[in-house]
Amino acid sequence: MDTPELSYNTSMERTVTYSPAYTLVPTYECFNRCTYCNFRRDPGADEWMSLATARDVLERLQAEEVIEILILSGEVHPHSPRRAAWFQHIYHLCELALELGFLPHTNVGPLSYAEMEKLREVNVSMGLMVEQVTPKLLETVHAHAPSKRPDLRLQQLDFAGELKIPFTTGLLLGLGETTQDWADSLSAIAQAHHKWHHIQEVILQPHQPGHSQAETRPACQGPTLLQAIHLARKILPADITLQIPPNLVLQDLALLDCLRAGARDLGGIGPIDEVNPHYDHRHRNALIELLQTQGWTLRRRLPVYEKYDAWLPNKLKTAVKKWRG
Ligand code: SF4
Repeated sequence: MDTPELSYNTSMERTVTYSPAYTLVPTYECFNRCTYCNFRRDPGADEWMSLATARDVLERLQAEEVIEILILSGEVHPHSPRRAAWFQHIYHLCELALELGFLPHTNVGPLSYAEMEKLREVNVSMGLMVEQVTPKLLETVHAHAPSKRPDLRLQQLDFAGELKIPFTTGLLLGLGETTQDWADSLSAIAQAHHKWHHIQEVILQPHQPGHSQAETRPACQGPTLLQAIHLARKILPADITLQIPPNLVLQDLALLDCLRAGARDLGGIGPIDEVNPHYDHRHRNALIELLQTQGWTLRRRLPVYEKYDAWLPNKLKTAVKKWRG
């Protein structure tokens, strides 16, 4: 695989960004059963986080360096009688985070257009992984995960674009897909971005085996991961930042290789990666030191890129303005 020309992000060539974040999980219950999941509980087997508990958690965080509140949830089926309550709860958690001075970013699975439009009022950006556009995974790792239909996930990119929501998406790597599948998924994201200009970041999330997944599969790492980064940099428009979750790249040198290959963002860094709970984040100071060895600087960013501030509703513009500068 050829290395792409370094025509992207040249003014910040030696800068890597991250978002100081905390993840709130309204519920771990999920009607999907992805075979690699280390997050889900069965519907009804998890008590939803109360607003009072969330307030306690968030009030404690006010003394810490946290900007983004990532609202990450298991999914309640769109036709479930509990869907409306689940959705309202997510909305209220976002409102609470805003009230306490944080910037919410919600990623809770596919939403209806009306749901996404409503959440736009209380989110500075939103996200959903495309994962992979090949339908072949619906016969394997997603055989019991109806919301992982590629068409449904690509539709979310269009909804977000139409609603002018700054958006984060990405690929899961190492689920049994091919290199051509990567190219197809990246091309589909690029196409949506050409239409709407709304994709801030694309996450390349390499599979790392956890302790509670239904099916064990090998980690995606080393040259395979680098190949994916090179391909992404080649296919995606230059104004989309590539994000790598640093806790899923276990070796320091391998993480530096990812940066050399074109990754420029480390995503939200907080106490726990809820999706990969068996892989701790490196401490921020350790990351700074590691990057410095190669002349890289770690810079914090907000969950919304500045170029999208103008898209936000006025209330959110005011909230973001407090953090700029
Ligand atoms: S990976 Fe996400 S969608 Fe799949 S079962 Fe786990 S929580 Fe649900």
